Amino acid sequence: MMVDSVLVHVCCAHCAAYTIRFWQKQGYRVEAFWYNPNIHPEEEHRLRLEATAKLLDEEQVPFVIDPGYQPSVYFDAVRGREKDRCKSCFRLRLEKTVNMALERGFDAFSSSLLISPHQEHENILLTGNMLAGARGIRFLYSDLRRRYSDSRVITKHRSLYRQEYCGCQFSKQERFSSR
Ligand code: SF4
Repeated sequence: MMVDSVLVHVCCAHCAAYTIRFWQKQGYRVEAFWYNPNIHPEEEHRLRLEATAKLLDEEQVPFVIDPGYQPSVYFDAVRGREKDRCKSCFRLRLEKTVNMALERGFDAFSSSLLISPHQEHENILLTGNMLAGARGIRFLYSDLRRRYSDSRVITKHRSLYRQEYCGCQFSKQERFSSR
């Protein structure tokens, strides 16, 4: 299946920076999509969203923001599997992305999560392919982890909020309890 256009789920400015340019360099028409109800608390969600929107504006990348802040959607998705929660978190965000991509007529979807060395790539790939299924859309995968520092270089001299933990309440607790 030929791919001309891709909707890229963006998790934060610092992961989006190189990822967006990478898919543009492949010759695709790229738009970005913000949907991250996993981020806790609301102020953190606001800060990351503002930083991402600023970057995308500066890079002149069209983007869609899922409006509002609905953490209950995330907590419902991971309830009972908090220790193994990331797979459900990927699925939640990628499912919304594939639905948005289909609604808006994109050929493919992907995620800036693929540049983070902290994420479980096999799970993201499996989830993306499973969601694409036979729906006439492709999940675009590339292992961009080696480019993580390039993405940081793009954002380094810009005044963009930089987060200190993955996103959810659990990851925040884990991050700060280890200090
Ligand atoms: S650690 Fe990160 S990927 Fe895993 S559930 Fe929390 S926010 Fe989602």
